[in-house]
Amino acid sequence: MIWRTVFGVTRHCSRPQCSAEAAVTLTYSYGTAQAWLDVLSAQREPHLYDLCDRHAERLSVPAGWELVDRRRPVMHWRMAG
Ligand SMILES: [Zn+2]
Repeated sequence: MIWRTVFGVTRHCSRPQCSAEAAVTLTYSYGTAQAWLDVLSAQREPHLYDLCDRHAERLSVPAGWELVDRRRPVMHWRMAG
């Protein structure tokens, strides 16, 4: 998995009873009633939730919330030099 290579760590889905490898970071903003799905965040922060692909696809947000998927299908890495 590319995230393991890039970040040097393996994180797991934060859902109970799920031991799948995390692939997505979920961020909430209660103030604006929005939730974002991003490629796995490099840093682990209290308001970020790691999810596996399966749970990310199943994710639903409360009524009135907007769910924004900011993931890109392919990640491009610029080679140094
Ligand atoms: Zn999961």
